[in-house]
Parts: sequence; C-alpha cells; structure tokens
Amino acid sequence: SPVAIVCVGMAGSGKTTFMQRINAHLHSKKQAPYVVNLDPAVLNVPFDSNIDIRDSVNYKEVMAQYNLGPNGGILTSLNLFSTKIDQILALLEKRTAPATATVTTPRIRHILVDTPGQIEVFVWSASGDILLNALASSFPTVIAYVIDTPRTTATSTFMSNMLYAVSILYKTKLPMILVFNKTDIADAGFAATWMGDWEAFQRALRSEEDAGTFGGAEGNDALGGGGSGYMGSLLSSMGMVLEEFYKHLSVVGVSSMTGDGIDGFFAAVETKKEEFLRDYKPELERRM
Ligand code: GDP
Ligand code: MG
Repeated sequence: SPVAIVCVGMAGSGKTTFMQRINAHLHSKKQAPYVVNLDPAVLNVPFDSNIDIRDSVNYKEVMAQYNLGPNGGILTSLNLFSTKIDQILALLEKRTAPATATVTTPRIRHILVDTPGQIEVFVWSASGDILLNALASSFPTVIAYVIDTPRTTATSTFMSNMLYAVSILYKTKLPMILVFNKTDIADAGFAATWMGDWEAFQRALRSEEDAGTFGGAEGNDALGGGGSGYMGSLLSSMGMVLEEFYKHLSVVGVSSMTGDGIDGFFAAVETKKEEFLRDYKPELERRM
C-alpha cells in the first residue's frame, strides 16, 4: 500500500524545499509521488502538485471577505478546504488503487503533503485534525517533523524544538521522523548524540554555562544555567523525561539543498510505515 508523508515544522525550517527534494528523488527513481500542497499562503510552489489548496481557496480573498489577518486567513482557508476531504480521498484512492485491465496509470506509492508555514495553524486546528485523520484512516501516514538544524545547536533551542515535537506526536498520535535539515550548514551529529546520551546533553549544558552563552548570547543570570539555576535544572530533568520519547522516533540528518541523507529518510519512512500498520492502525480502528 502507499504511504502518506506529512511535512510539518516551524516556518523557515525548510518543509517546502524538503518536499521539492524528496519529490525529485522519487521522480529520479521512476516512482512519481502524489503531491498535495496545503499551504494557502505560499507564493511559489517549487514542485508540481496534484492537489493544491490554492486552486480551491483564494487566501487573499478569504482574508478580505471575512476581515481576517494572515493567520485567520490561513485557518479559514484550511477550514473551507477540509469540507472537500471526501473528494480528495476519492482522488487519492483512485490513483493508489492497483492497476487493472482498464486503468493502466502507474500506481502511486507515496503521497507527499506540505503544510502551512505556521505550524500551529495545521497541528492545533480542527481542520488540520480532520485532514490528518482522513489521511490516516485511508493510508499508513507518517509525520516528517522538519527542523532547522543550524538554529537548533544551542541546548535551549534544541529542547524547545524537542518539546514541540513531543506535543505533535501526542496530538497526532502518528509515527514521527525527526528530519534535521540544512546539514550542509551544520552537521546534525550533535542532535543524535544528545538524544542518545543524556550525559552528553548535560555536558553541553554545562559548557554553555561556562562559556556564558547559555540561553542565548546575552546570557541570563536570573534564569541560571547548567545544573544550578532553575532553567538549567528544568532542562536537565526534561532531558531525562525525553529519553523515553526519543525511543519512539526515527532521526535523520538531511540537506534539502544538496540531497544528502535522503536515502536515509526513505529508509526511515519504510520503518515507520511498518510501525503504523503494526501499532497505530489497530489503535485507530479501536477509536473509530
Ligand atoms: P518552509 O517555510 O518550512 O516551507 O521553508 P522553505 O522550504 O521555504 O525554506 C526556508 C529557507 O531555508 C529558504 O531560504 C531555503 O532556501 C532554505 N533551506 C531549506 N532547506 C535548506 C537546506 O537544506 N540547506 C540550506 N542551506 N538552506 C535550506
Ligand atoms: Mg513552505
């Protein structure tokens, strides 16, 4: 069966560039994916999409008509779009069905979904929920959480990002791959080390404290660093809690710019797809 890959991540983390890269990768393997753009506010989509939210809702008109700001406009556009989910599923099912004597178009093995830059609009809205649940009830679905690696090298930003990933994991209840993007600028080795070894994370906290860079370049005595202040001890105990969470994730480093690490990403997708079928699907069916 095909697998749906839903790309989420903070604005600027590189979701769209990553989509473009995995799309090109699949094309080069003669496995053209089915591509869905759910970002109504994007100006240019650098890949051919089969379904584009912008074809059915005009974000600028929605803003004007309902007197909304940018976030409200995106949310309302998603709401309007989610009312058409049945038609979208019908399209997807048609394109992913096994070939027959009369239908000879190649079978789709991957469905790629790009989401709005404003992550919360998708993850924490009713329409995001509707769209994700509809996908996951029809196809094995995995979340690719895209992270801006060069902006995550400090312990505090790393931890914020991991906490956001936890909240998405528990909100969506779908298998997740952490995609450390932009490895052409910063190697993602530190992240794998911190996730695999709590003491290594502690050491990094302490050395940021010693260097006076803890919590950003200005430092912050009130928050305290390392193991002493409240911020440091908060981070270090969270590190322990997160160890359990890390066990459930696949972690890959990629560069959407150069294509580095993309094979590793698709290997993780296969693992997570099996996990979906084994662990998540029975749970989904139980809830329905
Ligand atoms: P989105 O908001 O998450 O969809 O992010 P975009 O895909 O629009 O990318 C945001 C910025 O990061 C753009 O300027 C991209 O060119 C840049 N970018 C994305 N991926 C990479 C990467 O792997 N390496 C580098 N150096 N830049 C990247
Ligand atoms: Mg984008």
